Amino acid sequence: MSPDSISPGCAKTEMQHRRDMCVAGRWMYEQGYNVACDGNLSVRLDDERVLTTPTCMNKGMLSPEDMVVTDLQGQQLSGDRRFSSELAMHLLFYRMRPDVHAVCHAHPPTATGFAVAGRALDQASLPEVVVGLGRIPLVRYATPGTAELSAALEPQVPHYDALLLANHGAVTCGPDLLTAYFRMETIEHFAKITLAAELAGTPILFSSREVAKLMAARSRYFVTPPPGGGAELPVTCDANESGDHVRLTRNELDALIDEAVRKDRARR
Ligand SMILES: [Zn+2]
Repeated sequence: MSPDSISPGCAKTEMQHRRDMCVAGRWMYEQGYNVACDGNLSVRLDDERVLTTPTCMNKGMLSPEDMVVTDLQGQQLSGDRRFSSELAMHLLFYRMRPDVHAVCHAHPPTATGFAVAGRALDQASLPEVVVGLGRIPLVRYATPGTAELSAALEPQVPHYDALLLANHGAVTCGPDLLTAYFRMETIEHFAKITLAAELAGTPILFSSREVAKLMAARSRYFVTPPPGGGAELPVTCDANESGDHVRLTRNELDALIDEAVRKDRARR
């Protein structure tokens, strides 16, 4: 196997997982998802052990022997280096989701820009995102690496494979490392396209009927939804009919305000 690639599947030796994590760490660094010592990766080795990247090291420059092995409670079992305090977030996925065998955390700049602006990536605008991830909710801010962040994540973990972390970054999970990494790529790509669409005009969203058709097609694309199902569907163009969300242009909003002011004056 080339050291620049990761073969799919999760039936691998520990050494293969260590090499895969070096490759995925390098991809994340080269794509600019992490700088300096940001981000972390992990893989479930078996029912009791997790392999993770070390803290205070650039994730694009790791060697297989830099990785750390812990148990599911975060006790270090082997490795010369220390693991990141952000591992707590990964362990939450492993404890709550038996289907999860890898977790990827990064700070991809465009998606993180949405998270800093307090915005979820929740619009129904691209088929592959609706089919693959449903929506990407925004988890409320809590100090990274604390029990507070785990508490904020906990209600969302059963329902989603990709989450934005307010004022922080993103976290993805999957049945293997390659899938978790690809989900991180999808988040950042979707964030870039959403931003470009908003700069180019007003994004045109799918109707709830179109979203239902895409959801129904998931099995054709071999997509296994999270065990809790997506708690909420992405925002559609007709969402306002069910009282969820209303999107207005500045002119439409101004016109509504003018009308309300006019009616108010007429009543006086
Ligand atoms: Zn982080």
